[in-house]
Amino acid sequence: MADQRAAALIVAAGRGSRAMSDKGIKQYVRIGGEAVIARALRPFLDDRRIGCVQVVIHPDDAALFADSVRDLDQTKLLTPVTGGANRQASVHCGLEALAALEATRVLIHDAARPFVSGRDIARVLDALEDAPGAIVAVPVVDTLKRAGERNAIVQTEPRDGLWRAQTPQGFRFDDILAAHRWAAHSGRDDFTDDASIGEARGLEVRLVAGSERNFKITAQSDFERAEREISQGMGETRFGTGFDVHAFDEGDMVTLCGVEIPFGKGLSGHSDADVAMHALTDAILGAIAEGDIGEHFPPSDPQWQGAASHIFLEHARDRVGARGGRIVNVDVTIICEAPKIGPHRDAMRARLAEILGIDGDRVAVKATTSERLGFTGRGEGIAAMAGASVVVDS
Ligand code: MG
Repeated sequence: MADQRAAALIVAAGRGSRAMSDKGIKQYVRIGGEAVIARALRPFLDDRRIGCVQVVIHPDDAALFADSVRDLDQTKLLTPVTGGANRQASVHCGLEALAALEATRVLIHDAARPFVSGRDIARVLDALEDAPGAIVAVPVVDTLKRAGERNAIVQTEPRDGLWRAQTPQGFRFDDILAAHRWAAHSGRDDFTDDASIGEARGLEVRLVAGSERNFKITAQSDFERAEREISQGMGETRFGTGFDVHAFDEGDMVTLCGVEIPFGKGLSGHSDADVAMHALTDAILGAIAEGDIGEHFPPSDPQWQGAASHIFLEHARDRVGARGGRIVNVDVTIICEAPKIGPHRDAMRARLAEILGIDGDRVAVKATTSERLGFTGRGEGIAAMAGASVVVDS
């Protein structure tokens, strides 16, 4: 029988400079459309051997936390408690909050490790069957050098038996609570993880094999690595196409990819007739199989008369976001004899990238004629086609 009295304690109270990035407080930054902390929590909430999950947050972050976990199954999630001045104090706060629940074991995990897996959790819980403490860790494979002045190597250190500690770190509950109480009582606040507090009290803490994937988000570049992990390891790529045509009409400019181009004609249509942006909107909706632009914005509805088409594209972008997905790249081809697209291409790419919230190098705008053949060749209108790829959780 599974012992449901294992608890998880997720530490998310950090607010110091290491916790900040230019995207915000790192545990609440969205990666692949979902907050770092939500990704860190899910495997614990899903594990049948974990009975409850206690999160420790900064007192100012209650609203951020609630917003970040809104889409999770919250059955096992306890009301968050607030932390202390440093990580050690915050863990202690969480352990005291759990003390009334009679948990027999606790797994302590950093919210900034969003790629913890069910396998990591299982290995720690399994090891706790016959050891008072167990942590996931990875063996050191690089040769270790000790640096002196001018970064000159003083010595090569033996790496035999050396591991890098990760979280989760699991303990028999009473042992780690007593160790934390001892550390707090004796004024020690120099421990960088919970295992070292247990070690200081003579607790046997075992190492179990973790995964390089379970890295901690610390530096700015870690967010890029996290996005790559999500797009390569956890999601699946979907592809969509779109096509649209608008006829020329009287006027003095056309709008293509959000850029107004002075021209001897206009384009007819119920919105601003941005044929290229319409094709792109359909490509994105197509990638997530959520209908087409006409279904979301019926031409018969007068409120879209003369509307700026970025509204449609933003809607498609938000539909991808609502599914926890992200747009990887888009590719637009405009088919006409005139006006010339080349001089406006960079402005078009920049405008689409801005609306979609992706880098400019993920946006292509191309143009071609139809060699004077067909309706575009006769100068009766403009056609556009588009492709889009998005990554969604599989
Ligand atoms: Mg259209």
